[in-house]
Amino acid sequence: MDYGLTEDQQMIREAAGVFADEQIKPQGEAIEYDTSRLAYLVRAAGKLGFLGMCLPEDIGGIGADTVSFALAVEAFSKADASFGSYLIIHNALIGEALMHADQREVVVPWLEDLTTGDVHGAFAGISHTGDKITVSQDGTDCSVQGRHKMVTGAGVSQFLLVQARSATSDTPACALLLMPKETSGLEIGEIQKTLGLRGAACAPVVFDNLLLPQTQMISATDQAAEIVQEMETFAGIGVAAQALGLAEAACEAANEYAGMRQQFGEPIRRFQAIAFMLAEMQTAIEAARHMPYNAAWLRDQGKDSCIASAQARLYAVGMVNQVTNTALQMHGGVGYIREYPVERHFRDARMLGIIGGPTDVQKRIIGKELMKDTDKMAELPGDRLLSVIMG
Ligand SMILES: Cc1cc2nc3c(=O)[nH]c(=O)nc-3n(C[C@H](O)[C@H](O)[C@H](O)COP(=O)(O)OP(=O)(O)OC[C@H]3O[C@@H](n4cnc5c(N)ncnc54)[C@H](O)[C@@H]3O)c2cc1C
Repeated sequence: MDYGLTEDQQMIREAAGVFADEQIKPQGEAIEYDTSRLAYLVRAAGKLGFLGMCLPEDIGGIGADTVSFALAVEAFSKADASFGSYLIIHNALIGEALMHADQREVVVPWLEDLTTGDVHGAFAGISHTGDKITVSQDGTDCSVQGRHKMVTGAGVSQFLLVQARSATSDTPACALLLMPKETSGLEIGEIQKTLGLRGAACAPVVFDNLLLPQTQMISATDQAAEIVQEMETFAGIGVAAQALGLAEAACEAANEYAGMRQQFGEPIRRFQAIAFMLAEMQTAIEAARHMPYNAAWLRDQGKDSCIASAQARLYAVGMVNQVTNTALQMHGGVGYIREYPVERHFRDARMLGIIGGPTDVQKRIIGKELMKDTDKMAELPGDRLLSVIMG
């Protein structure tokens, strides 16, 4: 991998950093409780082009690559981890799905509005919680039934992208449906009271006898399943970058506090135990930095990045929970109260191993791929085995 960033990547990192420092960071605590401020900031990020940054230029996007996307997610998440979620949802989930959908005449106007920031959306994926979203044919329309307990940004979005299963067969046939928030039969509930990532404004949605024109089913069966897989890979890189940004924020806050807090007449940072904690945090962050960027680079080269994305996410989630925990410990008692942002960092980190698929799912993806390789090797005659191992 070439670690040198291109001029475009550097410009995006800088622009994201400026927006993050000037707009998001000062509101980090407020957006936990104030939905109108959150909605204003999401709209502002959209107006600057961040929500459609990976969309191609011919529909108004800036055609940013995956490395640039990860840089922007890292910068946003360093200011507030919830905010990284909006970049992930719009670029890696909604943008990716709409770009590869069948119904171009339906999706293009939405894509164009995404690039100008005029609309923002939310994604309700197939839930594992027992909630079911199903779709079936109803004359010329399709009928959607079911519910989803937790959909990020649902309370502040203008439309939903919904992943549903076929109601009429046992096969897990998958469909992606696009629906404006005003669609009759769509009910968006109150924002959930979550432990962390509160700025994600996660809300339940109910689909009650909801009828949509067939054209709003923008993708179905094998094609939809393929799109969803790519969305997961892309989003996984985003979550790893989100964890990285959050860990950096916690480590910087801890370093600053340890330089300021005096015990026995000197800053606690001078004590070896504290210096070692900082050294370990910083080293873990640097190790985790490589993985999302490697996965992003692979994706930009058109190479398979599924495993690299799952590994980056798995590692980064472990790292950020460790780092935020140590950062809180280093603050002593004040770390546990609202006075310092480290308390919010600690709560936010906990969610990153759950959202969009728990860490066990990442392990399953990696484990499955390893088994596939073993099976492949087992089938190979001995003389070819060595050349495979040697690459
Ligand atoms: C704040 C918040 C925001 C969210 N936003 C969205 C959103 O925007 N869109 C959306 O679609 N969803 C969203 N979700 C839902 C989230 O993606 C799911 O909660 C998550 O995927 C975990 O699924 P689950 O809750 O069904 O847990 P389960 O799948 O029931 O998992 C329960 C336990 O079983 C383990 N487990 C599950 N599957 C396996 C497996 N295959 N192998 C081994 N162990 C396994 C898990 O590790 C976990 O410990 C959100 C949730 C929250 C809390």
